[in-house]
Amino acid sequence: MTSRRPVGPSYEEYRPPAPVDGCETCRGFAARRSAARAEFDYSAVSDSNVRLRAHLLDEHSGT
Ligand SMILES: [Zn+2]
Repeated sequence: MTSRRPVGPSYEEYRPPAPVDGCETCRGFAARRSAARAEFDYSAVSDSNVRLRAHLLDEHSGT
């Protein structure tokens, strides 16, 4: 029997990246994200997630 993963490849898309404590850039993206969420602007929310994730990979080695 083949083992199937319970989640698809798009799973990551639904896991919002977490800002790193003490990093101003992370905090900026997280603040933008919560502001966008408060306005129900989901395209801005996902945009902030994409930017934050790219920044995490870039500056925090994916942490
Ligand atoms: Zn950061």
